[in-house]
Amino acid sequence: MNAIAIDGPAASGKSTVGYLVGKRLGFVFFDTGVMYRAVAWAVLEQGIDSADGKAVGRLAEQLRIEVDAPDSDLSDGRQATILVGQADVTWAIRSPRVDSIVSEVAAYAQVRRELTRKQRRIGLAYGSGAAGKAGVVMVGRDVGTVLLPEAPLKIYLYAPLEERARRRFRELVERGREADFDRILEDMRVRDRTDSRRAVAPLRPAEDARQIQTFGATVEEVVEQILVLAAARLGVTPSSPED
Ligand code: C5P
Repeated sequence: MNAIAIDGPAASGKSTVGYLVGKRLGFVFFDTGVMYRAVAWAVLEQGIDSADGKAVGRLAEQLRIEVDAPDSDLSDGRQATILVGQADVTWAIRSPRVDSIVSEVAAYAQVRRELTRKQRRIGLAYGSGAAGKAGVVMVGRDVGTVLLPEAPLKIYLYAPLEERARRRFRELVERGREADFDRILEDMRVRDRTDSRRAVAPLRPAEDARQIQTFGATVEEVVEQILVLAAARLGVTPSSPED
């Protein structure tokens, strides 16, 4: 199976690095966090109380979430297009309001059951060459431990909390969004804690994951490091970075 699992806390570099690794290998890139964000977005949109686990679980069962390759006309920096029903929520799911409830929503067993089933199916299909793809890079919190424990290469990215909050702050500013550093830092601290202490599929490195610190390394260095590991474990050869 050609699958690379990349896990780690918020803003540890998973999506940036995972996307580029996927591109170099001709693998599908799949960010599992967008599906939890889509549920959190719908919770807010429908005025559901995020503390009501039953209502949130029911919503997750009914929701139609679609993750598509981006339309080539859309050059707004998106890695994928996320639809909830007919609504394009690609950017709306990145709002600070979604950030502040997504971990609470992702901790409910019913929500996880629903999304895990879909994500594992996607991972197994692309990992075994569906749609003519050479493989899959899946990123999230529980890819190596729960979603695709059979992935031949598992990576766990990490960086200090302050550094990760600075990255998120810069991202928002670059997108012309309002950003409050202290709020981002505090939300991230709470999110880390909720994600790593929850009962079902908590954030932690798989026993056989290679742990990589992304603070002090460039994106390119981390990508190259993963490509070397991928060549050894999966026997795949990357294209050159300019392609
Ligand atoms: O990766 P991202 O920050 O977009 O993920 C948003 C939230 O979704 C995480 O804080 C976590 O609560 C949840 N998540 C998860 N399992 C995954 C991916 C994301 O619980 N595989």
